[in-house]
Amino acid sequence: MEVTRAMPVPDYEVVIGLEVHAQLLTRSKIFCGCSTAFGAAPNAHVCPVCLALPGALPVLNRQVVELAVRTGLALGCVVQPRSVFARKNYFYPDLPKGYQISQYEAPICLGGEVAFDLDGAARRVRLTRIHMEEDAGKNLHEVAVDGGSGVDLNRAGVPLVEIVSEPDLRSAEEAVEYLKALRAVLVWLEVNDGNLEEGSFRCDANVSVRRRGAARYGTRVEIKNMNSFRFLRQAIDFEVRRQVEVVDGGGEIVQETRLFDPDRGETRSMRSKEEAQDYRYFPEPDLPPVLVDEPLLARARAALPELPRPRAARYQRDLGLSPYDAGLLVGDRALADYFDRALAAAGGGPERAKKVANWIIGELSRLMNETGRGPADWKVTPAALAEVVRLVEAGAVSGAGAKQVVEALFREGGDPGAVIALRGLAQLSDAGAIEAAVDRVLAASPAEVERHRSGKKDLTGFFVGQVMKALGAAGNPGVVRALLQKKLGGG
Ligand code: ADP
Ligand code: MG
Ligand code: ZN
Repeated sequence: MEVTRAMPVPDYEVVIGLEVHAQLLTRSKIFCGCSTAFGAAPNAHVCPVCLALPGALPVLNRQVVELAVRTGLALGCVVQPRSVFARKNYFYPDLPKGYQISQYEAPICLGGEVAFDLDGAARRVRLTRIHMEEDAGKNLHEVAVDGGSGVDLNRAGVPLVEIVSEPDLRSAEEAVEYLKALRAVLVWLEVNDGNLEEGSFRCDANVSVRRRGAARYGTRVEIKNMNSFRFLRQAIDFEVRRQVEVVDGGGEIVQETRLFDPDRGETRSMRSKEEAQDYRYFPEPDLPPVLVDEPLLARARAALPELPRPRAARYQRDLGLSPYDAGLLVGDRALADYFDRALAAAGGGPERAKKVANWIIGELSRLMNETGRGPADWKVTPAALAEVVRLVEAGAVSGAGAKQVVEALFREGGDPGAVIALRGLAQLSDAGAIEAAVDRVLAASPAEVERHRSGKKDLTGFFVGQVMKALGAAGNPGVVRALLQKKLGGG
């Protein structure tokens, strides 16, 4: 069910800042060697460190730093040469140490931005910071043998980055587009799997309203842990309506943390500022500061892939692809890479680019959706697709025949020339055979021939279709059309 659009609030401006938690794609946890694999039996992936047994000491997983640096560089942040882990102290059953190791005063990245389109216009939203931290465990209710609660610590110590935006967002739609663009970049970088349902990409929204023209922001409310784009939009829309009502009624917004209830489409108060924790942050004594030196930065910079937006811009600028086609191709890095390889094999250039893109966006995407097989698993190699494009250009196979060839290649792989030969798809350019088919079609449709000749209606297209059908997919449509026009007398 789609949500009702936010009611217009002409007198008020909506202000939103997002805090995103993204799980980094490492095999092991941030401070121990335990696996990060999702879906294991509760507490299968734990050790003295992530169980917080006395005397166990954390050791930083260097890959976490590499992934955080990659993220920061891609988002235009200033990566800090020295950052510091800190203890964030609070008590909760899913946090066995009694504190979370996070970063506070000295995070790994400052600044940066996320670029995206909103209603066709380019937008940039500034980032405040990115820091590294460990995830907590999970309370499980009504799971224990006696129907009681338990704690699963598989997630405890799973590496996260928290990406904090400035309060630059001005609507629920914009927040959703920002979040989609950020997710696309993280997935593209292979630092995050983008899976909202499994909780590896989730967000808190800070929302406030103020009268238009007001100099200062209104008091913000923080909505915790939304795990879908739809919920984010619903939660913000609800919260904006609620806050406007309060302010309009002469009331004041209380700074608080709220929870979104997807069943009721409402946010509910969880705790107010007065009840807020004092986390008593202090530097983590068991971990040295994180040092990012120039060689590490240089390596990370050199390994940074071309990102989706610049890539789409290049496709439009250099290859003449439409914004729509370019956008579809960069929707998936594997798809864009496949396109690049096939185009290179076809010899490059805007004309070939359009043809290669059409195959990928049309036939191959259809087959991909049908089979659930991504570009990495396609049996049709980029070189084979390029060969199909060349064979169509050379007139060796018709467009319709090529479709069958591509489908066969997709399912079974192999060489386009061989598939054409094996399936009898070689295009018929032999005028004698085509002429016979043309004569048969014209003889079978005297009424249409009469209408066409009398000039009432141009039926050339109809006759071409009939002849092509008679020839299977094998007729050369150019030759068919030329012969028809000769026999029908112009047309
Ligand atoms: P906290 O730890 O209290 O959540 P952070 O600094 O981590 O504080 O996060 C603050 C978030 O709230 C940022 O995303 C920021 O952009 C946003 N924010 C700050 N002030 C406002 C406001 N008045 N309205 C909406 N969002 C705000
Ligand atoms: Mg917060
Ligand atoms: Zn562990």
